[in-house]
Amino acid sequence: MPNAKYNLTLPNKSKLEHPGASLARIAPRQYHPEMNSRFSRHVDRDEIVAIVSELVRHDTTNPPGNEHLCKEIVTKCMRSLGMEISYYEKEPGRTNVVGRIGSGDRSIGFVSHMDVVPPGERDQWNTPPFEPTIAAGRIYGRGTLDDKGSFACAYSVCKAFTAEHPDFDGTIYLIAAADEETGSELGIIYLVEECGIRFDVAIIPDGGRMDLSIYGEKGILWVEITSLGIQAHGSTPELGRNAIIPLAELIAQMKSLDLGAQYDHAFDGWTMNIGTIQGGSSANTVPSRARATIDFRLPAGITKEQVLAAIDAKASLVRAASPQAEFSMSVLHETEPHLSDKNSVIIRSFDQAARRLGLPMKYETFGGNTVAKNLFFAGITSVVHYPGDDKLAHVPNEFVIIDELAVGSVLYAETLESYFFD
Ligand SMILES: [Zn+2]
Repeated sequence: MPNAKYNLTLPNKSKLEHPGASLARIAPRQYHPEMNSRFSRHVDRDEIVAIVSELVRHDTTNPPGNEHLCKEIVTKCMRSLGMEISYYEKEPGRTNVVGRIGSGDRSIGFVSHMDVVPPGERDQWNTPPFEPTIAAGRIYGRGTLDDKGSFACAYSVCKAFTAEHPDFDGTIYLIAAADEETGSELGIIYLVEECGIRFDVAIIPDGGRMDLSIYGEKGILWVEITSLGIQAHGSTPELGRNAIIPLAELIAQMKSLDLGAQYDHAFDGWTMNIGTIQGGSSANTVPSRARATIDFRLPAGITKEQVLAAIDAKASLVRAASPQAEFSMSVLHETEPHLSDKNSVIIRSFDQAARRLGLPMKYETFGGNTVAKNLFFAGITSVVHYPGDDKLAHVPNEFVIIDELAVGSVLYAETLESYFFD
C-alpha cells in the first residue's frame, strides 16, 4: 500500500531525461517500507547512507579499478560485525575483501562489487558523480546503486541477522569484489578458482528490481568484423581499395540478420548491438582497414556457430555485389547462457521471505551478466535481486532509493532466516 511518508517528488524533474529517469518509480509503492519483520529494528538508514556515501566518494572507475580505495571502509564495516577478514589481490590495487562470520556447514555468500563503470559525459550529470548527493530520499552518484549501495545493504543484512541470531549454525560470507564491470577475472573468478573461496549458495544484489529477481542470464558473444582494403592516396582512390565501404554495407545488411526462433523461451529472445566502428587514418588516405564490434546476447538454443554463419551469409551478399570485399571475423569474448533451478533452496528461501513480507516478486531472465553466471558454472546457485532498479545502473544521475536499501536489508535477512532455519 502507498506510504504517505514517501517523498515522491523528483528533483530537477525536467533535467532528469536519461533512460532511467523515465522509469523513476514515481508510482505509489507496492510495498510498505516499515514491514512486519523483526529485522527492521536493526536496519539503520543513516548508517547505510554514510557507508554508501563514503564508498561513492572513492573513484573506483574500472578501468583502472583502484578497488583498494574502498578497502578501509569495507574492512571497518566487516570488523564491526566481528567478521574474519581476508584480502585477495590478483593485481596490485585490485583488492577483493572477503568477510566471514559463523562456522556452520551451511554457507551463503553476498557478492557485491566495488568497481564502477565510467561516469560518461559529465554534462549529463546534475550533480558530480563522485560526490554523493542526497535529495528526496535518494542518494545520487556513480555506484550508489551499482554496486556500492548493494554492499551497504548486504552489510546491513549481516548486521540485522547476526543481531537476532548471534549463534546461528552456518557461515555467511560478505564479499566486496573487484573487477565485476570488466569480466571478474580479478574478482569473483579469481576468488573462486584460485583462492578457494567457496559457499553453497549466493545472493547477488546486482540485477533485477525490487519486485523482480533474475534466475537466468543470456550468453554474451562479442564479434569483431575486420574489412581489409588497399591503402592509396586520397586523390587517386582508383589505385587503392577502400576498406570502410564494404564494412558499412555489411553493417547495413546486419539489420536484417535472422537467427530464428528456435531457442529456449525462458529467455525473451536475442539482441544485437553494433557497438564500435573504426577505420581509416586521415581524410586524404584510402583506408586499408576498418573494424566493427558487435555485442550479441544469446538465449540457450542459439549457438555461436549459428551467429557466425549468419554474419558470413550477409558478408557473401556484400561480396556478390563487390567481389573484392574482404572480411575476417573473430570472437573477442563469450559466455554461455545459464538458467538456475527455480526450485533450488536459495530461490525458495528468497521467495518465502518475499511472501512473508508481502512483497510481490517476479522471476525472469535477462541479457545482463552478473557474477551469478560465474558462480553457476562453479556449481553455486544464486538469487540475483537489486535493492533498487537495474535500469538505473550505468546511466548518468544514477541513484538509489534509501528506503529500498532498507527494504532489501529486511528481505535478505528474512531470506537468511529461511535458508538457515527452514
Ligand atoms: Zn553491478
